[in-house]
Order: sequence, then structure tokens, then C-alpha cells
Amino acid sequence: MRIEFDNPDLFSFDDSFASLSFLGRTEPALLGKVRASFEENRSFCQKYVRPLALRTDLALQRDPTALAGEMLKLALEHRRFSRVLPGILGGLSDGTVITPMITAEETASVDAGFVGVLSGHGLGMAALAYTMNLRLLDWFARETIRGEIQGPPFLIDCAITEPSAGTDMEEVALLPHAKLVSEARRVEGGAILNGRKCFISGGHFATHHLVILPFDRHDPVKTSGVFMVPSTAKGFSLGKLEHKMGMKAGPASELVFEDCFVPDEYIVLEAAKTAGASIEPLLLGVLGTTRVYVGAWATGIGRGAFEIALQFAKRTRYRGKTLIQHQFAQRALVDMFLNVHKARSVYLEAMFALMNASGGAGAPGFTSSAWFRALFESYPARKVRHSDGVRRMLMKRSRPNAQAQQRVQFYSSLAKVVGSDVGMDNCHRALDLMGAVGLRHDAGAEKLFRDAKLCQIFEGTNQLNRLHMAQHFLARGDASMEVF
Ligand SMILES: Cc1cc2nc3c(=O)[nH]c(=O)nc-3n(C[C@H](O)[C@H](O)[C@H](O)COP(=O)(O)OP(=O)(O)OC[C@H]3O[C@@H](n4cnc5c(N)ncnc54)[C@H](O)[C@@H]3O)c2cc1C
Repeated sequence: MRIEFDNPDLFSFDDSFASLSFLGRTEPALLGKVRASFEENRSFCQKYVRPLALRTDLALQRDPTALAGEMLKLALEHRRFSRVLPGILGGLSDGTVITPMITAEETASVDAGFVGVLSGHGLGMAALAYTMNLRLLDWFARETIRGEIQGPPFLIDCAITEPSAGTDMEEVALLPHAKLVSEARRVEGGAILNGRKCFISGGHFATHHLVILPFDRHDPVKTSGVFMVPSTAKGFSLGKLEHKMGMKAGPASELVFEDCFVPDEYIVLEAAKTAGASIEPLLLGVLGTTRVYVGAWATGIGRGAFEIALQFAKRTRYRGKTLIQHQFAQRALVDMFLNVHKARSVYLEAMFALMNASGGAGAPGFTSSAWFRALFESYPARKVRHSDGVRRMLMKRSRPNAQAQQRVQFYSSLAKVVGSDVGMDNCHRALDLMGAVGLRHDAGAEKLFRDAKLCQIFEGTNQLNRLHMAQHFLARGDASMEVF
């Protein structure tokens, strides 16, 4: 049989080398800033997170109704939530996604649960940013910073999943058929929400909830809205705190809405009015970012498993030699090391694809100057920034073209799948090498194993993400191929 090659562009330059396509677009000072943040986070994790990791996991195994309060306090005191907030608002971000990604790997290699403490707020802020509602974004970012410095905390989560719609809510192609129980109803001066969301990261830590649900649950694509609900709102309550397998420090919460009124100023976005009549770009944007983050997070777990196995092999004697002096152990460790590099390369490529699509090459140097800050804070500047016109313009400009969108989608799923499969594989290998010792809680490897499994499930299961890649890579330019 003669094979015809009908798609020579399958591995185009931009599809294959996202990092190379990014060359030359960064601020010269960016590398120094990223390196400094990396080093600072590394010593923070060794000094503060490591001593808490196993202790917290054990305490929450013994009492699944408790929260990781000590870890939350640590994160607030050391301003970990501000690290994703723009410098111009007082946050500590360098304006790129590089630092959040590489610090997620680093932190997760020490404790994936601590990343779980941070991730709900990170997801909430990412979703809020994608709505381009700068009025609420400005306010929320400043309040988060104030909450870290003076208290009390001011945190958000992002609620998409429903009891009978997880995968369907995470894949826009499936959204029209999602079996939703939640719905909003328009009333004078706002909307009334009814329904429930489940497995929401950081729900029990959050003071506000960014909720995505439709005005007509039979047409979620065109009628969905994004609502900000304070925990104190009448009609809102926290449901159960999930007693889950791993990442115990990061709460996964049920949110319940019973005739919960949301005033107009807290309706963050209405697809029908602002987002080009569809919630699709928002979901693609948010998941295209957070799946890369999960890839980095899971790479860190795989690295943590490698590091534990390495230390074990150096200290354990077998047949008169340390384990690491045996070839079988060396091969096992090299395979684990190889895995970490594979997963890291993929999430970094995905990150560059994301930055290529969004033009995010770091905040230009002048944005940290006093004159720019004064201008930014002035009343006229704020008025313009918060106007509908600027919002529409930003939404249009932030939306990648079709090719770049496809690239972001397949790369982000790739990072998520490779990272979480590697995380799981390395935990298996570490436990194999360590034998019964690895099963002990105080050895650390069994905790990583429990943590790793979650990464294969959230942000869309890996099965679903494989289909997502089929749709955004294999099916490109092939009208005969149907995925969903
Ligand atoms: C720790 C944790 C934290 C989370 N945090 C958040 C959060 O902050 N916010 C939020 O909104 N959600 C959150 N989630 C929810 C998460 O995103 C969902 O669990 C995930 O998308 C999978 O959905 P599901 O669990 O409902 O699985 P289901 O959709 O019930 O899937 C069950 C099985 O069916 C398969 N499947 C379903 N549909 C298809 C299909 N069409 N084609 C092929 N296979 C299919 C799946 O792959 C899976 O194997 C979190 C979950 C966890 C575990």
C-alpha cells in the first residue's frame, strides 16, 4: 500500500518549537527576575514547607474535617498569593507565566499539597483575568494584597464542575450536552443563583467564589455567565469538604446556592453580552493556561519521587553495597530522571506556546516606574481602564488567532497528560525501588503517590485531554475526522 502524505505542515516550525518562536521577545531583565524568584521560592520551600508537609498530610488523614490552617497562614505571611498578581497593582508577578510554572514544579517537588493550598486562588484569578473585567480584577487583586499584609485574607476560587457535569464542563465541544443542575435567573438589579458546584479547589479558604453557570441550563454555551459570590452572601453555603485520596492540604469543596442573589456589579461577565455570545473563549483561555500549570505541578511530584528514591538508594545497603552502587538501581533512577526532563520540556514548550499566543513577554520595564504608576492610578486612567470599550478591545486582542489557539490547546493538554503520567510513573518506580519502606508514611513516597493520581483527573481527565489533543492536532485540516 502506498502511503500518501497529505499534511506536510503537521510539524510546522511554530507547532514544533514554541520556545524558539519566543526567542527575542523578552525584556532583557526578565531572566534575572525569574531566576531570583526561583531561588527565593526554593529556599522558602526548604525552610518552611518541607517541615510541614508530612505532618499536615497525617493530621488531615486523621481528621478529614480539618483544614490546613498552618499552611494557609504560611502562604499568607510569605505573600504566596501575590505572586500571580501584576506588579502595577502591588503584586509580585513579573508579568509572565514563567515564574508561576517553574515555582509550581519546585514547590510540588517538596509538597504538592502546598501547591493545592495556592491553586484555587490561582485558578480563580486566572479566570477573573480572562473575563477582562478590569474593575473587579483591580479591586480583587488589591484586596488580596491587603489581606496578605494586614489581614483578614481575601481569596477567590473558580467553580465550574457540577455533580453530574465534570468532563462536559471542561470540554467546550461537550458543553452543549452537559447535564447541569445549576442555573441563574435574571431579576431586577442582578441575578439569582440556584444549584451546586463540587470539588472546588480552595472553596473552604475562599472569601469569594467565581462561579460559571448558565441562565438557561439547556444552552450553557450561549447563556453562561460568570458571577462573583462572597461567602457571606445570603443563599450561599459551603457543602461538604471532600475526604479525598491526596493533596489533603488543598481543600476540595462543595458550594451550594439556594436563591442566592448576585447584584449587577458582581456579575463579572455575561457571554451573551460581552464575550462574543459564547463562553467558549473563556473556557479555552482558562483551561489552556491551567493545564500547563498542572503539567508543571505534576512534574514536581515526579521530581519529588525521584529525589526521595535517590536519597534512599544512597543510604540503603544491599548485598554489601549501597543500593546506588547496583546497576539495576542506577537504571531505575536514570529512567526517573529522564522522566522529569521529558515532562519539564513539555510543560516549558506549552508555556512558550501560551506566551506566543498571548504576547506575554513580561511587563515592560517602564511599568514599574513612579510616573507610570501615578498615571495608572489617576482617576481618568482608571475610568478609561474600566470602560466597556477598553474591555471589548482587550477581549479582542487577547483572543489568539485560530492557529495559535489550536497550538495552545494541544500543547496545554500535552503538558497536563505527560506531566501527570510521569508524576504517577515516577511514584510507582520510587515505591518499587524502596520496597516496604516506601509504603511507610514517614518515607514520603506513598504521599506523593496519592498526590500524583489527582493530577491525572483534575482539569479534565487524561482520557479527555487525549481526545482534546486529537481534536486540536490530529483533526486539524481533516474534515473527515470526528472526535466529539
Ligand atoms: C482535587 C480536585 C480539585 C478540583 N478542583 C476544581 C476546581 O477548582 N474547579 C472546578 O470547577 N473543578 C474542579 N475539579 C473537578 C475536575 O475538573 C473534574 O473532576 C474533572 O474535570 C473530571 O470530571 P468528573 O470528575 O466529573 O469525571 P466524569 O466527567 O464523571 O468522568 C468519568 C469518566 O468518564 C470519562 N468521560 C466522561 N465524558 C467523556 C467523553 N465524552 N469522552 C470520553 N470519556 C469521557 C472520563 O474520562 C472519566 O474516565 C477538581 C477535581 C479534583 C479531583
